Parts: sequence; structure tokens; C-alpha cells
Amino acid sequence: MAGSAFAYWAAQHGFTPTVVDREPRASSRISRVEIGFGGVGVLERMGIVDRLADEVGPPPTVEFHFRDDAEPVRVPAASPETTLVVRRDPLLRELRALASANAEHVFGDSVTGLEETPDGVDVEFENGPARRFDLVVGADGLHSTVRGLSFEGTEADHVHDLGVTVAIFTVPDFTGQDALSSVLVRPGRGAMLSDIPGEDALEAVLLHRRPRGGRDTERETPEELAAAFAEDGWHVPRILDEMSRADVRIAPTRQVRLDTWSRGRVVLLGNAAFCSDPMSGMDTALALKGAMSLAGELARVEGDHRSGYFAYEAAMRPHVEHAQWMGEYTVDGVAPSGGSSGLRLTRAAVWAGAVATRVTSFVTGGNNLTDAGPEFPFERYAPAGERDTV
Ligand SMILES: Cc1cc2nc3c(=O)[nH]c(=O)nc-3n(C[C@H](O)[C@H](O)[C@H](O)COP(=O)(O)OP(=O)(O)OC[C@H]3O[C@@H](n4cnc5c(N)ncnc54)[C@H](O)[C@@H]3O)c2cc1C
Repeated sequence: MAGSAFAYWAAQHGFTPTVVDREPRASSRISRVEIGFGGVGVLERMGIVDRLADEVGPPPTVEFHFRDDAEPVRVPAASPETTLVVRRDPLLRELRALASANAEHVFGDSVTGLEETPDGVDVEFENGPARRFDLVVGADGLHSTVRGLSFEGTEADHVHDLGVTVAIFTVPDFTGQDALSSVLVRPGRGAMLSDIPGEDALEAVLLHRRPRGGRDTERETPEELAAAFAEDGWHVPRILDEMSRADVRIAPTRQVRLDTWSRGRVVLLGNAAFCSDPMSGMDTALALKGAMSLAGELARVEGDHRSGYFAYEAAMRPHVEHAQWMGEYTVDGVAPSGGSSGLRLTRAAVWAGAVATRVTSFVTGGNNLTDAGPEFPFERYAPAGERDTV
């Protein structure tokens, strides 16, 4: 996502980007993404929101089920003007199509070597011949090869496990819910069902806090997850039954934390630089805003990439810190640590948040707390001909 968005914005500013992606097809096992926190503003400026009209749904109300004998705590939906839910594959395809119209694409290849020279970076590829580029943007995701080649330290120094396993899979729509995410919260684990726009299906998510926390690099299996949820009621028996037949994506929840996002002419973007964790619901917005910011700042500095990288990092750091805080907060809200007392604290926090959200929504005429976060200077990054003011 970040790479395609950057290619689009870089081309708008007059650069000639080349995108290298080892995956020829834009597809994933993630069915839906919720995009808020300024991400919709970037998509609108790319003209993508209109083209995705059939794939988009409204932001969901979230229902937290803490106790079997009590009503769920309801957190009102964010404003549809600032937040949307979209099927991930059509979004990826639209971003790629837009990038392809504006940039050279090399699919099915990967970078194997980066050597900086005074006036460029010599790049070696797995399959194609070596080439020289002025700048290299590593937007190659959580396990970034560019980061591994250019930055000191190993992946273990940069990628931090939050100690919780997340399993995501698609199940038939057996609840008939609409614009709703419903969540069962139990000590150390949580289960979530969300509807997918335009599909007769739900996205199911299980989160399980591992006994040894972030030190455990072993992946939990579906069988181990099923054992952890075996005693739970609500929709869990049906979810576990569906999981036994589903194509399940299981991974630890992780964040990428780096002291700096650039080394010489190489800079990182998106999950490669600042993954905040899928549960924050903010990584797409971060990737899109980061792409617009990086291209915009480079366009303002007339070839002085160091100043451009510095300004990009200064602009994006507050957004990333907010998102990474949200990532940890959300994981703790759905799979609370601290046993039964942790569950009670989480319930109190979610209840207080729900009340605060209602008040905020009332006062601001529709926006709620989940729309909060640092302001993003869209106008600063608009290509010169599209700015309202110079
Ligand atoms: C389970 C899950 C749920 C999510 N839900 C949400 C959500 O609700 N809301 C939200 O905002 N975000 C969500 N996200 C995050 C979002 O989908 C993206 O991961 C995020 O936008 C970051 O995008 P990215 O482009 O930086 O990284 P990625 O999307 O990971 O893209 C990396 C790209 O680099 C390519 N690549 C990787 N390695 C190489 C290599 N060595 N050589 C060449 N190419 C390479 C890959 O093929 C890919 O195209 C979720 C993510 C996951 C995993």
C-alpha cells in the first residue's frame, strides 16, 4: 500500500519512481480494513474513494461483551466522513492501478544489495540487472529487506512482539450484523466478529495473550488457540468450528520501532518503518499519510534529500507515536492482561471511553474520539498546481 501510494504522489510532484514488488498479484488473506485517522483524506485526494464506492461500508459501532449476564458496552461509530471500512484486495488493486499509471513497475523481483555512492544508490536485484537510483524508499512491509540491508541491528532489534497472538479468518455471516464489530472480552483473550462490506461473510479475529508474553517467538497453532477459547460461550463455539475449516492467518501482534527512518539516501515508509500493529486500525492511514508526506517533503527541498527525510520524519513521528499507543491500548482492550482484575479495569476503561465518545460526538456534531489524533497538513503536501494557497 505504502509503496503504491508513494509512487503516485512522487509522480504528481514530478519524480520518476520505479516500484519493485515481489508479489505480482495484489491479494491478501485480510478481508477488510478500517481506515480513519486522516487516511480517508489521502484516498479522497487520490480519487480512490469514488472508484471504490461498491467496496466500501460505514464505520462500525463496537459492542464489547464483558459478561454473559450484562448488556454489552457500546462505543458509537466514528463519522463516515472521516472513517470507512473497505475490502482490502480491491483497495490494493486500485492503489496499484493508480501507481502503474504513474510509475514504472517491476513485479516478481526483490532487492539483494544496496550500495550508496556520492550521487545515487547502486541496487542489486534477485532476478533483474543492477541499476542506479537517486533515492531508495523501503516500503516492503514488516519484514523489510531494505531495512535489513541498510540499517544497523537485526529484525529482533526493530520488530517488537506485543505478546499476543492474532488469528484472522473469514466465516459465513451467521449473525446478520450490519456496520457492527462485536467483541467478547475475557482475561487474556478476546474474539471479534465484523461484517465485510458487500459480502455475505464476517471477519473473525481471535486474540490470545501468550503465557510467556513477548519472549515466545513460536507461532500458536489453530488447535492451541481453540484450546484457549474452549470454555467460552457467546459465538465462540461457532467461530472455533469455522476456524477448523478456514484459511487462517496467525501471527504475533507486532510493532516496528526505529530511532530514525533514514540512512543516507535510503528511507523507510509504512510498516517497514513504523508498523503500529494491525489491531490499532491505523497502519493503512499511517502508510497513506507517510507516502503523501515523504513525496511532498522531497518536492519542497529541491534535491536535498536529507532535509526532505528530516522533515518527513518530524511530520510523521507524532502520528506514529499516537498509533503505536493505540495499538498497545487496543490489544490490551480486547485481550486484557492481569487476569480478572485486568478484565474489570478494561471494562471500566472501555465504559468511560464509550461515554466520552458519546459526549465528544454530541459536542463536535458527529466526530468521535476515534477520529482524534494529530492534524495532518494535507495542504502542505498537495502538488503545486493543486494548492489553495502558495
Ligand atoms: C491482519 C491484518 C489486519 C489489518 N487490519 C487493518 C485495519 O483494519 N486498518 C488499517 O489501517 N490497517 C490494517 N492492517 C494493515 C494494512 O493492511 C497494511 O499492512 C498497512 O497499510 C501497511 O502497508 P505497507 O504497504 O507498509 O506494508 P504491506 O501491506 O505489508 O506491503 C508491503 C509490500 O512490499 C512487498 N514486499 C515485501 N517484501 C519484499 C521484498 N523483499 N522485495 C520486494 N517487495 C517486497 C509486498 O509484496 C507488499 O506488496 C492490517 C494488517 C494485517 C496484517
